[in-house]
Amino acid sequence: MDLLEKCRAYDRADEARDAGLYPFYPAFQGPAEGGQAVLDGAEVCVLGGNSYRALSLHAQVIGAAQDALALYGTSATGSRLLNGNLDLHEELEADLAGFFGYEAALIFGTGYMTNLGVVSALAGRGDHVYLDEKAHASLVDGARLAKSSGAVVHQFAHIDTEDLARQLAAGSTTSVLVATDGVFSMEGDLAPVAELVAVCEKFGATLLVDDAHGVGVFGRGRGVIEQAGMQGRVPLMTLTFSTSLASQGGAVLADAKTVDFLRHTSRPQLFSAGLSPADTAAAHAALREVRRRAEAEPDALSAAEFLRRALDAVGYDVAASASPVILVRFPDQLSLLSAQRLLLEHGVYTNALLPPACEGYQLRITCTDAHTPHVLEAAIGVFAALREDLLPRYRQMA
Ligand code: PMP
Repeated sequence: MDLLEKCRAYDRADEARDAGLYPFYPAFQGPAEGGQAVLDGAEVCVLGGNSYRALSLHAQVIGAAQDALALYGTSATGSRLLNGNLDLHEELEADLAGFFGYEAALIFGTGYMTNLGVVSALAGRGDHVYLDEKAHASLVDGARLAKSSGAVVHQFAHIDTEDLARQLAAGSTTSVLVATDGVFSMEGDLAPVAELVAVCEKFGATLLVDDAHGVGVFGRGRGVIEQAGMQGRVPLMTLTFSTSLASQGGAVLADAKTVDFLRHTSRPQLFSAGLSPADTAAAHAALREVRRRAEAEPDALSAAEFLRRALDAVGYDVAASASPVILVRFPDQLSLLSAQRLLLEHGVYTNALLPPACEGYQLRITCTDAHTPHVLEAAIGVFAALREDLLPRYRQMA
């Protein structure tokens, strides 16, 4: 059997394709944001994106990217260590550190690379990593790399600080990294940041919060750490630019010595090109906009609360959550994919989540500031109208 035999035998995606229910890799013809996107030539309302502050079409964000493109060209063309470092990167790092209340920041090519690069550089032989069992794949993969250089990796039960405390109490070292998402984008719930801080401080462990989905949304834009009143008590925070900051890239925030260590040791930093000028400038302009709007609660949160209640009222099985992520449970793959397709045919785009990405079969709906009451009413009308098509099957199978 040759290496590629497994590819030829792979038919999981074909099953859904053959049934006309394949939900992945939709190719939007234009921006995949807000109330009016175009998919397969038809107008759709995107209730399945991560652009929580709807900034990817903001005039100043686009303008900043265009200016950077004109002044710096298309690419940083190399590792920042040697030749790809721009003043744009350093200016953004200084502002990120200031806004989030850390001594320093370091930008990476994506949020995924940030977590991979931070966890694998900080943990190795003699160190222990404890991950929330639902932590993002990038933290998991960072831990796998750390394991390959000798770290011992553990999981604790999802948002269960007692389980974490039990495990840390039984351990024998304080050279420990505890890593969690701030907002769990596949579950919609928030990490118990204050409790995690208490446990980590008690056992001398170092806490990392990946706040990819909390930044821009919670805590006056500063994310779940600020929301929990824990500013200054979480030594490591990571984030992506691909959600509220409407760009591409990611960053870690930490004390100056840790950032300097990462600048010189983290392999995804050293062996990959600096972020492109346009992406850097777009993220910076979006950060300014998030800062400008800091005192106003994001519309994304009230939109999600409104939609969550409306879906619950018409009989959908909606999971509890306090984030812009709404999860509607379905009993099996067929009912989920059929629902996703039917909604799309009626102009509402949502995400179908299947194992192993999550537990069970869930429709993920995300709200952003672009979901005005008018847009939401229209979407709720579709969910209500399809209720009879979707719910009987639901009940039969539940
Ligand atoms: N962390 C979390 C929690 C995420 O959900 C994601 C993906 N949105 C990432 C990291 C990776 O971010 P990026 O898309 O910038 O690679």
